[in-house]
Amino acid sequence: MNRRFFLFSSAAAAGLDLQSCAQEKPKEVVSPAQAETKAIKYGVPVVSGPMDSVLLKDYDPHPTLVTPATKVDKAKFPAIDVHAHSHMCNIRTREDIKAWLRTMDEVGIETSAVFTDAIGDDFDQQAQLFKPFGKRFLIFCSMDARNIDAPDYSARVVRELERCVGQGARGLGELTDKGWGMQGNPQAPLPRGKRMHPDDSRLDPLWDKCADLKIPVNVHIADHPSCWQPLGPHQERTPDFQVFNLYGKDVPSYDALLNYRDHMVAKHPRTTFIAAHLGNQGNDLASLAKVLDRYPNLYVDIAARDYEVGREPRFALKFLTHYQDRILFGTDMGRDKAMYQAWWRLLESGDEFIPGRLWWRLYGLETPSPVLEKLYARNARRILNWS
Ligand SMILES: [Zn+2]
Repeated sequence: MNRRFFLFSSAAAAGLDLQSCAQEKPKEVVSPAQAETKAIKYGVPVVSGPMDSVLLKDYDPHPTLVTPATKVDKAKFPAIDVHAHSHMCNIRTREDIKAWLRTMDEVGIETSAVFTDAIGDDFDQQAQLFKPFGKRFLIFCSMDARNIDAPDYSARVVRELERCVGQGARGLGELTDKGWGMQGNPQAPLPRGKRMHPDDSRLDPLWDKCADLKIPVNVHIADHPSCWQPLGPHQERTPDFQVFNLYGKDVPSYDALLNYRDHMVAKHPRTTFIAAHLGNQGNDLASLAKVLDRYPNLYVDIAARDYEVGREPRFALKFLTHYQDRILFGTDMGRDKAMYQAWWRLLESGDEFIPGRLWWRLYGLETPSPVLEKLYARNARRILNWS
């Protein structure tokens, strides 16, 4: 460690990039014979060399492994994507939507649920934009999260929901609480005691209204558990994900947030809740199973958790099979053709060592057709009340 630090600091002092620094100092490299007397790790002598100066963020090994790579152009069954954001998909004009539709047709997406992340005029404009495309898009509205201490808040948030449903909203969400409160702003957070978490009684009328209107609520509560772990050598997710880190921030614990979620779901058994991203428990599907067993009104989407199901394909398939009526397909990653096709490859093929978005590789699940059909569309069709 000290030697590596020396290499970094001397490179920085000399204004050199690390690559050239490593090349200029070959004399520092210890021969395997010398190293043998120093340390053995995993049965291999520890030697110094150019690899010591590779930064973690630059490490990008090129595998020599040769395995079949299956190209799955189109979903085996018409699919409903229950998790797409209009802003993340860069939707501003009707032409943008037409381009998205062409991709959806090519890859086999029958319908996309679109989170407008909007209320008021912004929601109305987006609803109008998508209206000519009928059932190919299901529009979700957001919630009013302003002036939550005002005495009229509960009535106001319900009123705006009803108005949005009148304008075409077919669901509420994605509503987020990563610790800053429901739809809380991390840039200007409310004091800890002032935040409104999912089980706050001010929101009870909203969740009840969703049940009355027969619309599902998509919630993103807590976040990937690695967000609560320090950024450092033991951080689980790839450096690119450090933007999401919450370690040491003024937020409740991961477990506390999941408890708020579960309390909300328990208090409102008539309301259909979809916990986004495998409920942020994709790292521990056995725990998620217990939650699903406890609350029959809770569903989960798999959006942006390709890296969870793909790193434990055998257990994930057991989970998908056991809870085949409770899990929904979603993406949450824009609208590129290759993105959709990567999902088909993961869920349908038996390919191994598939490149993923994190440092680890993914393995295809070979999901059987009856389970795949429910995951892709049948569950969504039932929950979204298409009749
Ligand atoms: Zn999302």
